[in-house]
Amino acid sequence: MSTSPPVALSIAGTDSGGGAGMTADVRAFAACGVHGSVAVTAVTVQDSLGVSGFHPVPPDVVAAQIRTVAGDMGVDAAKTGMLASTEIIEAVVGACDEVGIGSGRIPFVVDPVAASMHGSPLLADDALDAVRTLLLPRATLVTPNLDEIALLVDVKVVDDASAREAATALHALGARAVLVKGGHLEAVSGRRQEQCVDLLSVDGDLHEFRSPRLDRPHTHGGGDSLASAVTAGLARGMSLVDAVALGKRYITKAVEHSYPLGAGHGPVSSLW
Ligand code: PLP
Repeated sequence: MSTSPPVALSIAGTDSGGGAGMTADVRAFAACGVHGSVAVTAVTVQDSLGVSGFHPVPPDVVAAQIRTVAGDMGVDAAKTGMLASTEIIEAVVGACDEVGIGSGRIPFVVDPVAASMHGSPLLADDALDAVRTLLLPRATLVTPNLDEIALLVDVKVVDDASAREAATALHALGARAVLVKGGHLEAVSGRRQEQCVDLLSVDGDLHEFRSPRLDRPHTHGGGDSLASAVTAGLARGMSLVDAVALGKRYITKAVEHSYPLGAGHGPVSSLW
């Protein structure tokens, strides 16, 4: 008889094109050896060209999904993606508190998704404060990209020193660990980057994770996939440093194998 794998929970939006959001999360979970469960926060109408609309799920339905999964199969680690509104964040936090997600017992990865790569908003402007005050104090790890850092703590990351400054500011809001995702540094700094460097700040230590920079046009869902692979590692009981190393290996391979799909940007891949 086979045994049950660890369970990771994605609290996130759908992507009808199957590239990003919870569709990317569940693929990353499976590729990293854990069962993926989901609490859907919003249904997006989306293809390779972008998000043309979304419909938020009622907050009590989001909370009920979290409670029912945790009550039946248990959750070994959870991750948030698109949360859409303050009301949904409040419901997520309430349900997570009830079942022990983010309490120290169950690792809680907060990917503070604000917009799609094409600039469509996935979070209401007035919900940034709820991310700061409700989510970050509960986060085992927060995984912002450079745009999200600018929105959350008003730091423009252009180099190592500003990445450290951003991590300090996010710790000050309550995040226990911070992963500054440097994937967009080339665009932000205007300087060619030969490597893609992510910086993990945890327990007063800084760890750098480097990979060769791959110029690929198809990176849809990349941020979600990295955070989800880290979450899978935590669900498997890895340390944060080992889980981020797993995430980095996964995203590097996923970008390397990314494929064209539709008329726009194809997704990072879990098919190899
Ligand atoms: N759609 C959903 C539901 C998402 O959660 C995300 C990112 O988190 C995106 C789209 C955007 O992905 P990308 O920035 O790769 O386009």
